[in-house]
Amino acid sequence: MVVVVEQNATEKEIEGIIKILHDFGFDVHRSTGVNQTVLGAIGVKPDFDTRQVEVLPGVAHAYRITEPYKLASRTFKQERTVIPFKNCQVGGDAIVIMAGPCSVESESQIFTIAEQVAKAGAKFLRGGAFKPRSSPYAFQGMGEEGLKLMRRAADEYGLMVISEAMDGTQIEVMERYADIIQVGARNMQNYNFLRELGKSTKPVMLKRGLSATFEEWLMSAEYILSGGNKQVMMCERGIRTFETATRNTMDISAIPVVHAKSHLPVVADPSHGIGIRDKVIPMARAAVAAGADAVIVEVHNDPDHAKSDGPQSLYPNQFEEMMKQIRVIAEAIGRTIA
Ligand code: PEP
Ligand code: MN
Repeated sequence: MVVVVEQNATEKEIEGIIKILHDFGFDVHRSTGVNQTVLGAIGVKPDFDTRQVEVLPGVAHAYRITEPYKLASRTFKQERTVIPFKNCQVGGDAIVIMAGPCSVESESQIFTIAEQVAKAGAKFLRGGAFKPRSSPYAFQGMGEEGLKLMRRAADEYGLMVISEAMDGTQIEVMERYADIIQVGARNMQNYNFLRELGKSTKPVMLKRGLSATFEEWLMSAEYILSGGNKQVMMCERGIRTFETATRNTMDISAIPVVHAKSHLPVVADPSHGIGIRDKVIPMARAAVAAGADAVIVEVHNDPDHAKSDGPQSLYPNQFEEMMKQIRVIAEAIGRTIA
C-alpha cells in the first residue's frame, strides 16, 4: 500500500502514521521527495482496508500497489531515482558512460585502458575481477589483486569503479574497492545474494537474467530495495532468443518499458547485448536514443589477445567514435553525455 502524506503534515504526524502502520504489521519504507512524502507499507495483507489508514491525521490518501514489485514501482515512487557519485550521477539528464575490459588482466592493461577511456569521456572504469565463466577451465579473473589494480587505475584517471561480485562472500571486498557492485545476469535470481546486497551501502547494478521477464527482473530489484538499499540500477544486457546469428538479442524495448514501470535508472550493455564488435556501436546509439541513463561497454587495448570477451570488445579508437556519435544522439533528445 502507498500512503501519501499531506503536504503540510508535521514530522510528528508522519512518525505517528509510521507507528500505526507498524502496529498493523507493515514494514514501512519512507520516500521523502521534493514535493511529497510517501510511505510504502509492505506486507502481504490482501484484505486490508486502506480506509483504516486514510482516516489518520496527516494522510492525504492511501491506495494499493497492484504490481507484485512494490518499492521498485512507479506507483510507489514517481520521481526518478538519481544515484550520486563523486564525478557524476546516474539517472539524471546526463548519460553516464562506463567502459573498460571484460576482465582485469594486468597492471599495464588496466592502466592503459583506463587512460584511454577517461580521455574519450568515460566516467566509470568497468572490469571483472571475479568472472562468471561458462567453463570452469576458462580464466576466472585476478580476484582482489585485480580490484586493487582497477582502483589505482581509476583514481589515477578520475574514474569510478564498477565490478562484479559473484556471491555474498565477495561483497565486503567489493565495497572496499568499487563504487558500484555489479550483479551478473547469471545471478539475477540468486535471492540470498540479493538480500545481502540489500544491506550494502554501495549502489548495485542488477543485470537482466538471460531469460528473465521484466517482472522477474524487477522482483529481483525488489529483494535489494526491501533490504534497505535504495541505490539500484537495472542493466539490459541482451536476452536469449531463437536467434543464433548474434550472441544475445539486445532488447532495446527494456529501456522505455522499465522506465515506465519503475523509477530506477536503466543502464544498457550493448557489448553483451549483441556480442559482436562491429554491431556494438549501433546498439549503443539505439540505447541512447531509447533513453538509457548509462551505457556500459567493453573496451580493450588488444582485444585479439583478451582473456575474455575479446570479440565483442571495442578498440579504443572505436570507443572514441562511439562517444562522438552518442553525443549527437543525446543532444537530439535533450540530454547530454556526463
Ligand atoms: C560482464 O559484464 O563481463 C558479464 C559477465 O556480464 P553478464 O553477467 O551480463 O554476462
Ligand atoms: Mn564480458
